[in-house]
Amino acid sequence: MPSKKRTKITKSINIAVKEILQGNIIALPTETVYGLAADATNEEAVLKIYETKKRPFFDPLIVHIRSIKDIKKYAEEVPPEVYKLAEKFSPGPITYILKKKKIIPDIVTSGLNTVAIRIPAHPMFQKILAKCKVPIAAPSANMFGRLSPTCAEDVYKELKGKLNYILNGGHCELGIESTVISFVDDNIKILRPGYITKKEIQKTIKKKVILVRNKARHGKSKFTIYSPGMLKIHYSPATPLYITDNIYDFKDQSNVGLLDFSKYESLNEIAINLFSDLRKLDEEGYAYIVASKVKDSGIGVAINDRLEKAARGRVKMGKWEIKFSIKK
Ligand code: AMP
Ligand code: MG
Repeated sequence: MPSKKRTKITKSINIAVKEILQGNIIALPTETVYGLAADATNEEAVLKIYETKKRPFFDPLIVHIRSIKDIKKYAEEVPPEVYKLAEKFSPGPITYILKKKKIIPDIVTSGLNTVAIRIPAHPMFQKILAKCKVPIAAPSANMFGRLSPTCAEDVYKELKGKLNYILNGGHCELGIESTVISFVDDNIKILRPGYITKKEIQKTIKKKVILVRNKARHGKSKFTIYSPGMLKIHYSPATPLYITDNIYDFKDQSNVGLLDFSKYESLNEIAINLFSDLRKLDEEGYAYIVASKVKDSGIGVAINDRLEKAARGRVKMGKWEIKFSIKK
């Protein structure tokens, strides 16, 4: 058992750089959610990410790089569509899956011959990349399967004692993870919907893109798991979450937490607050939480994807009727 660490919250870029170059893990802010970062070329450091998160080794990590200009150092074939998208959306919340080069160790990619590459926009992360001069592997800074943290305090609650430092960059600007898009076979596929929508992608590359939705499951599955992030058990609060048509059906039940989006004016605002609101409800000790899906377009697709995964297939039709669409 690794010894318990005294985890400190800091704003020092230099401390973060030092930790990474010494082969330690640190939590850091990105514009999407907080990440748990390590030098992607250091296998032992990457191993610490999996151990800390209790993340299964079959779930590969995203590698963060400073600029699109560096992409060929890590990826074998980079189609023109990637450059077109990068021109518009990178640095930003989009992750490209490409054939990998040897410099990226197998542990980062779970033995796959592909690598996920993102160019983060957060200024603190950019500074770290510039100073470290190594690619940085960083999945979300939460225990495997749990909600992604969107502020330093939420990372602290989740991972305290397991790392030396959390770099504090305030609340994440977007609050929802990057769009993951694959270029490794004939069809261009969105493996995880995110902030950049299918429509924006198609408009930019003038090609059809397939949105692969929620087909993969844990255990035996007749579907291919294109991206382990497609597993239905991702992003869950500890309190059972149910999807329902009308959350106000439950407003008189004191043991039910309502994930109420009515206070927000836009889908963007819902995305920013989704994980932190779920965390708050999770801490309040309800028997269960209810939520309703949002309009399934634009970033609503990503919000609904996270809600479905957080609910693990639980649907609550009315006050008393509970239906499980997936058996656990
Ligand atoms: P996170 O753990 O929140 O950073 O999410 C990373 C996402 O990228 C997960 O959904 C991973 O399954 C996905 N991913 C990373 N590398 C690959 C890869 N080589 N092929 C497919 N999906 C990947
Ligand atoms: Mg994650």
